[in-house]
Formats: sequence, C-alpha cells, structure tokens
Amino acid sequence: MMNKDDLERRDAAWNHVARREGYACAVCGEIPPYGEREVHFETGLCGYHAYTLKKDDKPPPYNPPLQATERQAALPRMTTSI
Ligand SMILES: [Zn+2]
Repeated sequence: MMNKDDLERRDAAWNHVARREGYACAVCGEIPPYGEREVHFETGLCGYHAYTLKKDDKPPPYNPPLQATERQAALPRMTTSI
C-alpha cells in the first residue's frame, strides 16, 4: 500500500515530468493532477475542463420515443399479413 509520503513523492515526480514535458490544460494552463493524466493525454485538458467542455459539446441527445418507430415498422408487417 502507498502511504501519504509515497503519494506526495508520486505527485511531485508527476509534476516534475509534466512541467518538463509541457503537460498543461489548454484552457487554464494548469498541470493536470496525477489522477487526471489519462484524461489529459486524451483531450489535452485538465479533468475539470475535459468534463465541462465535453458536456458543452455534446448535450444529452434527445431520444425520440421508441414506440413511434416500432409502430411504423409494425404497420407494413400487419398489412402484408392480411
Ligand atoms: Zn483546465
């Protein structure tokens, strides 16, 4: 198990690498925390901005009621079977 000192060493090492490699959020310029490094590599942003920008880009899609398409699909089947 990692204790607090290990975590601080890990974060310090990460910050060192991040600063050297120029890892920084494209929006706020902050070095993303160790826990958000994968998000940063994917998006170039910190976890917070990756989350908020993703939310702005893609509002939850409106799903039309499924019954409508099912009913339309069922109608031809009914007329051909009669
Ligand atoms: Zn940010």
